[in-house]
Amino acid sequence: MSANESTRERLSQGVMSIGDGMRIFPDVEACIDCGGCVVACKRTWDIPVDDQRIDITTMLEGVEGESGFNGRQVSAIEEGMNPGETSLPMQCYHCENAPCVSVCPTNALQKKDNGFVEVVDDLCIGCQYCLSACPFGAPQFPESNDGLSAVVGSGGVMDKCTGCEERQDVGQGPACAEECATDAILVGSSGEIADELEKRDSGAFFNDTALEIIFGDDAGMFDR
Ligand code: SF4
Ligand code: SF4
Repeated sequence: MSANESTRERLSQGVMSIGDGMRIFPDVEACIDCGGCVVACKRTWDIPVDDQRIDITTMLEGVEGESGFNGRQVSAIEEGMNPGETSLPMQCYHCENAPCVSVCPTNALQKKDNGFVEVVDDLCIGCQYCLSACPFGAPQFPESNDGLSAVVGSGGVMDKCTGCEERQDVGQGPACAEECATDAILVGSSGEIADELEKRDSGAFFNDTALEIIFGDDAGMFDR
C-alpha cells in the first residue's frame, strides 16, 4: 500500500510515503538525542523496560571529544566550546542488501517483496549470527526462550525494529518517525529521503559501504 495525499497530510514531515518500498533512515543533523523515538517505540509495541528496538548512539567529534568534553558537560559550553556531538538513531534500516539475511542459517530473517526485513520467530535458533553481521546493531536478544531456541538452547529469539509494518498497513507511519519532535527519522522512497536530506543540507553520515548495504543501487543518490 502506498500513501495517498490525504493519508500523507496526517503524517509527520519526516514521513514522506509509506508501504511498499519504504526506506527508513536518520538525519543525524536533526537528532537532538531526546529519546522520544525510543519512548514512542516502547509504548506502541509494549517493549519491556530493559529492551529496545531503537537506540540513540551519540559520538563526539573533533578535539572536544578527544579532550573529554561533550554536550552534557556544562564545562564545555562555559568555555565556549562546541560539544561536537553527533547523535544517531540506530534501528533496523530494512537494508536492500541485508547481511543479516545472508548469514541466517535457518531463513528466520527474510527480505520480503515489499522491502521489509522480517524475523520469523519460530525459525530462529538464537545463534546470533545476525548480531555479528548487522553493521547497525539492530538485532536484539531479549531474555526469551521461544520457538526452536527452546529446543536447542540458545541466545533467545532475535527481536528488532519491524518498521511498524502493521501501522503502515493501516496508513500510519512508524511510531518513532511520527513522534520525533525534530523529524530526524525519515521514511519514504530512497529518492524522497535523498532529496529531503539535500533540502535540509544534511549529509547521509554513513560511508559508501554502509549506504550500499542499506540502499543497494540507490546508494549513489546520497551525498555524504
Ligand atoms: S543488517 Fe541490520 S539494519 Fe540491515 S536489515 Fe539486517 S538487522 Fe536490519
Ligand atoms: S539468531 Fe535467529 S535470526 Fe539471527 S542468524 Fe541466528 S537463526 Fe537467524
